[in-house]
Amino acid sequence: MKYYVLFGPPGAGKGTQAGAMAERFHLCHISTGELLRSEIAAGTPLGMEAKALIDAGNLVPDEVVEGMIEAKFDSVKGVDGFLLDGFPRTVAQADALKDMVARRGESVTACVSLMIPDALVHERIAHRAQLEGRADDARDEVVSNRIQNYHSKTEPLIAYYKAAGLYCEIDGVGTIDEVRERIFKVMA
Ligand code: AMP
Repeated sequence: MKYYVLFGPPGAGKGTQAGAMAERFHLCHISTGELLRSEIAAGTPLGMEAKALIDAGNLVPDEVVEGMIEAKFDSVKGVDGFLLDGFPRTVAQADALKDMVARRGESVTACVSLMIPDALVHERIAHRAQLEGRADDARDEVVSNRIQNYHSKTEPLIAYYKAAGLYCEIDGVGTIDEVRERIFKVMA
């Protein structure tokens, strides 16, 4: 089984590229953000707990997302692997992922990192706010908080996956097709 981490700042294009990547390489796409938004929409206790944190641009607790990921690993069959979009977002989550995958006798295949400059992050999120109407894209202070959380809590994963020899950085600036071709080339 393949275990790909799809990494990048908010607005880098992870959600945009994930579908094509999953289809091309027969992977199950798991977006923790999407799973959390479904829990909120369904009004579950987990969703209620996560909503205030997400609406403020903060991360939900590591154990919550780790539990969601492991449940998917346990239940999804008939794929060649998993494409993790928006997970891990902290070093603790990356350690938990390493352990979860090791318990299955496997290891993380690669961290595919979509990189865009900070200036473009704001532009892309403003554009997405108009298209998708996500509450956490609509307010400047929430977007800024997410970017700050990315820099302080998530960016250390670049060094983490570089040290593990798993880090593949892709230029995320360009058309959707151009970026997809770059990704396919490193995954092939
Ligand atoms: P995303 O759709 O990936 O931008 O995620 C939307 C929001 O869900 C984030 O701003 C976080 O509040 C929460 N979230 C998603 N994935 C994680 C994660 N791996 N760890 C903690 N919080 C997460």
